[in-house]
Amino acid sequence: MAAPIEHMHVQVNDVGPRDGLQNQSTILTPAQRLQLIQALVDAGVSSIEVGSFVSEKAVPAMAGTAEICAALPATDRVRYSALAPNLKYYDRALAAGIRIVEVFVCATHSMNVKNVRCSVDESMQQAQALIQRATADSVETIAAVAVAWECPFEGKTPPQAVFDMTRRYFEMGASTVLIADTIGAANPAAVFELMSELVAEHGSERLACHFHDTRAMGLANAFAALQAGIQRFDASVGGLGGCPFAPGATGNVPTEDLVMMLHQMGYTTGIDLEKLMAAGELAGRLTGTATGGRADRWRRLQLEKGKPLGW
Ligand code: MG
Repeated sequence: MAAPIEHMHVQVNDVGPRDGLQNQSTILTPAQRLQLIQALVDAGVSSIEVGSFVSEKAVPAMAGTAEICAALPATDRVRYSALAPNLKYYDRALAAGIRIVEVFVCATHSMNVKNVRCSVDESMQQAQALIQRATADSVETIAAVAVAWECPFEGKTPPQAVFDMTRRYFEMGASTVLIADTIGAANPAAVFELMSELVAEHGSERLACHFHDTRAMGLANAFAALQAGIQRFDASVGGLGGCPFAPGATGNVPTEDLVMMLHQMGYTTGIDLEKLMAAGELAGRLTGTATGGRADRWRRLQLEKGKPLGW
């Protein structure tokens, strides 16, 4: 049986414009990326990761993020964030007007070296410098633990590594710690176990989860985390995404599917599912890859029959 729903609101952070687009072979222009962000805002999404400040050579799909930040739809209803791997890029994010910065470190050595060519310790030191500066600047930070359940090179991630990193992040002053199944290899039992322990130690308010749907367990994993008390989730409109260092990894949990599950369970997200479908359709048109989510066909049939999607 489902645990009683104590907090009816779930915050859905759409990372499509960042995690989704960074892995596409089709590179969108800043104007197209803004169009997608606008569609998400129109759908009522209240938290959006708009891009990353990284080497444009390494990740050409994210070139022009500063330009995007300068033209974001003006609203104080939406929390806009961006990824920045270190202080140098943090400065650029701040100069572009970003006030919520995400930083990440992989929980395993091999994956961290593949991603950023340094050890976990070195990356944690860089994260510390960034988080301390952000705290002084009153900038919110989302500190992510990547490959929190499994690493493509080392296999299962020892939970202790995740517990230690989470604790260190909070000691550094991180506002939120994001536990990420970067390659989509977690399972609901492992998610429930890990997140229950983390919630017991840190409470649920400052924790969030990020799941990919590689092995079709993305939504089940989100449900397991929800049962463990998590109320903040990343998702990607249309299920956009992948991981350049993990062959076969697919996109994040499609926002459309996550929102539909949450609404059917009685949670609120503030998101209009029909408008979100329009954003998913736009993502598909722009990239040629977004699917609209796994239940897209069913949702469209319902709408054709004039039946509501909400409960
Ligand atoms: Mg990801």
